[in-house]
Order: sequence, then structure tokens, then C-alpha cells
Amino acid sequence: MNRDIKIIELRKKKVRLGTIAKKFGITPERVRQIYEKRNRAVCKIHNSPYKKECDYCLLEKTYRKRVQNLPLNKTLQEVLALTKENRAKAVVIKRKILIKFLKDTHELNFSEIGRLLKRDHSSIRNLYEK
Ligand SMILES: [Zn+2]
Repeated sequence: MNRDIKIIELRKKKVRLGTIAKKFGITPERVRQIYEKRNRAVCKIHNSPYKKECDYCLLEKTYRKRVQNLPLNKTLQEVLALTKENRAKAVVIKRKILIKFLKDTHELNFSEIGRLLKRDHSSIRNLYEK
């Protein structure tokens, strides 16, 4: 929208929220919202808006680092901890990472991993291959 583009240009020139608001007959809060929304990037992998880095990309990176050198018993503790995680998107990300390490590093097969994660063997394989 033309108005939004003008608002963004003015904000980038450090024109104050109140000044822009008056010019377009909207509230300063609305100006701030338009600027924030338009100025945000969206992560293509997680479809999530972010300012500096996508939360889920960051989670993926830190979680992978955290589990990559764990012995099997500690990795199994992570599997258990997953059931207490209440952010659905985080569970999906962590589960995928755990499957990868259980298979590649700890050499469990899909059926064994399935039992641990209470999923059938083919859904584990799908997650692994995704
Ligand atoms: Zn992301």
C-alpha cells in the first residue's frame, strides 16, 4: 500500500511516530505497527517472522549443538524431556534432531526410535528423511 511505503520511508529517515501519525491521521501506535510488520523478514523454513534471526532456526542450531556430543543415556533423557516441552513447534524441531542423532550417532533403527518416541516406524522414517 502506498501509504505504508511512505510511512516506512519516513521512519527510516527517523521522523517521529507522532509526526507521521498526524500527517496520515492515524495513531502513533498504528504507525509503529505498520513499520514493524513491513520491516520484518519471514523465515522460509519455519514461516515465522523475525527481526535478527528466526527463533526456530536459532533453537535448531543450539539444540543440535547441545545433543550432538551426548552419550545415548543422556539423549534418551532428552527424549523424555520432549514430553514436557509445551511449545508444539519446538517439539517438532527437537524431535527431528533427536531422531537424526539416535539413528546416525547411536545407531538405533527406526523401530527402536519409534518405540522411544511412541510413533510407528514409518513416521519416524518420514521425519528422518524430511
Ligand atoms: Zn527459521
